[in-house]
Amino acid sequence: MATASYLTCTSKMFLFGARHVLRTSSMQLCRNYSDSSKATVGFVGLGNMGAHMARNILKNGHPLVVYDISSESCNALKEAGATIGASPAEVASQANKIVTMLPSSPHVKAVYSGQNGIYSTLQKGTLLMDSSTIDPSVSKEVAAQADELGAFFVDSPVSGGVNAARDGLLTFMVGGKDDAFAMAKVYLDMMGKNVIHCGAIGTGQAAKICNNMLLAISMIGTSETMNLGMRLGLDPKMLASILNVSSGRCWSSEIYNPVPGVKEGVPSSNDYKGGFGTALMTKDLGLAQNAAIDTKSPTPLGSISLQLYRIMCNSGFAEKDFSSAFKFLQELEN
Ligand code: NAD
Repeated sequence: MATASYLTCTSKMFLFGARHVLRTSSMQLCRNYSDSSKATVGFVGLGNMGAHMARNILKNGHPLVVYDISSESCNALKEAGATIGASPAEVASQANKIVTMLPSSPHVKAVYSGQNGIYSTLQKGTLLMDSSTIDPSVSKEVAAQADELGAFFVDSPVSGGVNAARDGLLTFMVGGKDDAFAMAKVYLDMMGKNVIHCGAIGTGQAAKICNNMLLAISMIGTSETMNLGMRLGLDPKMLASILNVSSGRCWSSEIYNPVPGVKEGVPSSNDYKGGFGTALMTKDLGLAQNAAIDTKSPTPLGSISLQLYRIMCNSGFAEKDFSSAFKFLQELEN
C-alpha cells in the first residue's frame, strides 16, 4: 500500500516536470545448408526480432516452418527457405521444437491455447521455447498446460536488440526444468551467445523484466545527458566518445546511442524505425511495476520511466524505437 502511494506520488512528480538490418547472401546460405536429417523447427512471430532469429535457425541447417499474422513477414522467410504454416496449429503439427517470439502476454496465450493454437495439435514430447517478454505468471500458466499435454516448456526471453538478433549474439534468460533447459540450449545457442539458466519457470521473465527496467532508466538518462551536452555547445559524437571511456558509459550511450548520426546502424540513425518499439518498452515497464508492487520493492525511477514512456506513446512515439526518448525530450523543450 505504502509502495503504491509512493509510486503514485513519484508519478505525479514526474508528470509535473514533464509538462515543461547482406540479405541475398544469407538467403543463399539458408538454402544451401538446409538439411532434412535435422529436426524441423517451428517459429511463430516473425517481427523485428523473430525474423532474424528464425533465419539463424535456417542457417544452422534445420528445416523451418513459420507462422505470423503478417503474410509479408511469412513470405520473407519463405524466400529464405522456410515453409509457411497456415496457423500455429499447423506449425505444431509439423514441428516438435517450436520457438515463439510475440509482443505480449495476450498474444502468447492466443498462440498457445487459442483457436488453432499450438496446443490444439501438439505432439507429445514437443519442446516449446517462448522468447517473448511477458508476465512470469503467464509463462507459468502456459507451462502448466504444456506439462499436462506431455510437452516441455521454457520461458526464454532475450536481451540484445535487433542487431544482436541478426548476428546471433542474443542473451537468453531461461526458466524451466533442468532437462527442458538442456534440450532448449541446443536451439537457443543457434541464436545467441549467452544462454543462462535462471531457475524454475518464470525466472527467465523475472531476469528480463529487471534488465529492461534498468535499460529504460539508462536510455532516459543518456537522452537527457546528450541533450543537455548539446545545448551546452558540445558536439554529440565527441560527447558520446567521452562518456564511453568515462564513468557514465552504458549500453544506451555506447551501443545504441539515441542521438541521430552518433552511431551508424542503430534506430536513431534511421528515424527511430525498427528496433524495440516504445509501446513494447512501456509494456515491460508495466510488468516491472506489477512485480514491484507484488514484492513491495521500491522502484521510484522505474515508476517515473513508465510514466515517461506512457506519455511518449500518447504523443505519437508508440511505434518508434524506444531511443526516441531523445527526440521526445527535444520536442518537449520546443
Ligand atoms: P514485433 O512487434 O516486431 O514482432 C511481433 C510479431 O508477432 C509481429 O510480426 C506480429 O505480426 C506477430 N504476431 C502478433 N500476434 C500474432 C499471432 N497471434 N500469431 C502470430 N504472429 C503474431 O516485436 P519484436 O520487437 O520482435 O519483439 C518480440 C518480443 O521480444 C516482445 O515481447 C519484445 O518485448 C521482446 N524483445 C524485443 C527486443 C527488440 O529489440 N525489438 C529486444 C528484446 C526483447
